[in-house]
Amino acid sequence: MFPLDFRSIKESIGENTHVVGSLERVWSNSTLLTEEQLSTLPMHRGKMWVFRRCLIDGILFHSKSYKRVIARNDYSVKFQHLDNMHYGSIHVYVKVEEKCQKALCNYQKCSCHLPCHYFAIVEVLDKDDEQLPTYRGRTVVTHITKVKTSNRYSTAMPYHLL
Ligand SMILES: [Zn+2]
Repeated sequence: MFPLDFRSIKESIGENTHVVGSLERVWSNSTLLTEEQLSTLPMHRGKMWVFRRCLIDGILFHSKSYKRVIARNDYSVKFQHLDNMHYGSIHVYVKVEEKCQKALCNYQKCSCHLPCHYFAIVEVLDKDDEQLPTYRGRTVVTHITKVKTSNRYSTAMPYHLL
């Protein structure tokens, strides 16, 4: 386990959930997020930032975009989407500020306090058709599910990752 520098723990996302490390602003011509990844985010968005690590209940969750991960795979998660359980790998986390709706702010610099929302961009992993060997119809190793990448993205609230 890497020691976590407490100075790298940043703003709170929700109960027992924090941003870890720097927030990088996503400008309109940025390549930090792909078109597929952007399409999973809310339409009416203002400023955006990405971050690469997240602390949930004392557990550090990385993302695939965090390059310093060597032989760790703690960006593979199980998450819930519309009552269904899915497997996925976290590619990056995004902070999205709501777009200001005040007409006046179209003409002057907006300094309104706008609510922010946080998302984990997760690539959905499909269950592989070929699962682990079964013995008399029962899977021998039940906690391991073989998965394959799908190139489809979904978002999850960071605190809904399992
Ligand atoms: Zn405003």
